[in-house]
Amino acid sequence: MIGRTHDLAAFTALGLVVATEPLPKISLATAMVALFANMIGGIAPDIDQPTAPFWKNLPIGKYAGRTFDRLLGGHRFLSHSLIGLIIFGLGWHYLLIILMPSFPYINMDIVWWAFMIGFLSHLVMDSFTREGVPWLLPIPFKFGIPPLTTLRVSTGGLIEKFIIFPSLILLNIFIYKVYYVKLLTFLHQYIK
Ligand SMILES: [Zn+2]
Repeated sequence: MIGRTHDLAAFTALGLVVATEPLPKISLATAMVALFANMIGGIAPDIDQPTAPFWKNLPIGKYAGRTFDRLLGGHRFLSHSLIGLIIFGLGWHYLLIILMPSFPYINMDIVWWAFMIGFLSHLVMDSFTREGVPWLLPIPFKFGIPPLTTLRVSTGGLIEKFIIFPSLILLNIFIYKVYYVKLLTFLHQYIK
């Protein structure tokens, strides 16, 4: 899937969790940083792709992208698996612990979850593509939804642009309509 679809998918997944799960009261700073972390998490697995939007926006991105590509075993390898999810989760956890003393008003637990929700949404979305996702590495098999490769979507193709992307928008409208009261309560009373 392309970056724009991953961004929207990450946002949709976060919205679904906010709408359906019990949440603690958080600061406005936490909400904003969490939203940003969610977007980063949504494209982070493509750190293994030198041409990914993740790298394109960095000045040394081209070279850094190539290095990470080799380190992570090429595109759709380590960062597109459950082991990768755990490794990134641990790395992100320790990075947030280091940053925590400098940002006392930010609830790092929430920021951690927001990133991980984005990350997981990326793997789920990539599962709909022809290439599939090696969820169970080191077992070298790429899984997809549906299992039959020919029925899956090609990245950046017409189905992604005209069916999957609009469907995600509709899903957002559905979530915000069904959980309107809960989301309104959250925005009014839980963000300080
Ligand atoms: Zn990917």
